[in-house]
Amino acid sequence: MSHGLNISALCRVTNFETVRRILGKLALQGALDELAHRITGTFGGAELIGAGRDLMEFAFRAADAQAAQAQLEAVRHELTSRQEGLAPEARLSFDIGAAWASCDEGDTLRLLEAAEAALDRAADAGGLAVIDLSLADRAVDRLTLISEMPRAIAAGEMFLHYQPKINVRQQQVASAEALIRWQHPERGLVLPGDFIAAAEESGQIAPLTLWTLRQVIADQRRLAAEGHDIPLFLNISGMLLANAEFIDAACAIITAHPEAKLGFEITETAVIRDPESAIRHLHQFADHGVVLAIDDYGAGLSSLAYLKQLPAKELKIDKMFVTQLTSSHRDPLIVRSTIDLAHALEMEVTAEGVETPAALALLSVMGCDLVQGYLISRPVPFAALCTFLDEQEHRIETLSNRPVFSRSGSFWKRA
Ligand code: C2E
Ligand code: MG
Ligand code: MG
Repeated sequence: MSHGLNISALCRVTNFETVRRILGKLALQGALDELAHRITGTFGGAELIGAGRDLMEFAFRAADAQAAQAQLEAVRHELTSRQEGLAPEARLSFDIGAAWASCDEGDTLRLLEAAEAALDRAADAGGLAVIDLSLADRAVDRLTLISEMPRAIAAGEMFLHYQPKINVRQQQVASAEALIRWQHPERGLVLPGDFIAAAEESGQIAPLTLWTLRQVIADQRRLAAEGHDIPLFLNISGMLLANAEFIDAACAIITAHPEAKLGFEITETAVIRDPESAIRHLHQFADHGVVLAIDDYGAGLSSLAYLKQLPAKELKIDKMFVTQLTSSHRDPLIVRSTIDLAHALEMEVTAEGVETPAALALLSVMGCDLVQGYLISRPVPFAALCTFLDEQEHRIETLSNRPVFSRSGSFWKRA
């Protein structure tokens, strides 16, 4: 551990346009200046490095990672509690991305870049994400992460966020996908992109996935008890499809909970490596009532005709084709022909990475069955998924006679 850390924190207003319409430009700027002033006044040594239209950059110091994390939580608290007197629609909400590095390290640009990367992740992390550069050696870093994983699972540091999938025609939530996160005591939030590959290589993906499966079954039961008996999907790493021990353990858990509505999302690349045993094991899951979806379709090299040999009911088009859907010439053609071919093969199609109303409208016209993405909801904690489902119920009662997509843009951005 180092003798002190430099922290760079970026605070971005996530509802800038909405509040600007309500307060006006000048009042909004005043409110932001006031908040920045509060932060530098309240936290000794905090400096305002720069402020843009909807962004503020602060620099702090802290003794160690724990103190740094606590200070960021306090800044977040300060930003929300300072606005409690305001009308709810005039309150600013923030995403905070931060990074810290040892004080001995002089590379401020690297620190700022890491804070920017953390800010990109903040929305998925519940508003605050942190990248720790003080553990500089990435090789050691990965090894440490791997060695810490069993303890982390046992200590309850892993948790799940859920992202709903919406049925386009029925305009209601059809299912939700579980996405794993790791709340590391020192590093802050670690996203799956940073540890799933390591878990795969180190043989820890099986226990991790069995933990996820149990958690998802428990959550699905809680959902059903609250009157929202929708299937929950989890991601199954492809390499597990060749692991007979994992398959047996997973099937035993599923058999013990015959009431659970479950789905597995499998990446297509996984299946190509060892098609024979993968297909056999996938049939085993399907026979246990698990709905199978092919994830990230298009990111690999396999053809749909080949994938049709799998007992999958759902095809998820990779977000790389969806996020640029309305600005690219090629992507709409690929998406449209994929939807048509999948339908001919009797599969339902989900588009992931739906971020704009324009993409949603185009996908609807193309006959896409299900959509998932930031436009509808980010991955959220279980409680927020329940709220999303409760509110949907209410809206459907009042809007059920309206034509498709009569809902305002704000509906899709809720949760
Ligand atoms: P995936 O299954 O394809 O999940 C979709 C990823 O896209 C998620 O990232 C999600 O947060 C993100 N995403 C959702 N909507 C949008 C959008 O509108 N725009 C953009 N740009 N991105 C969006 P996340 O949670 O970081 O997960 C990344 C990958 O990690 C997942 O990709 C999945 O392959 C893997 N993963 C997550 N949880 C688990 C798990 O429990 N087990 C295994 N084996 N893999 C997991
Ligand atoms: Mg997935
Ligand atoms: Mg995917």
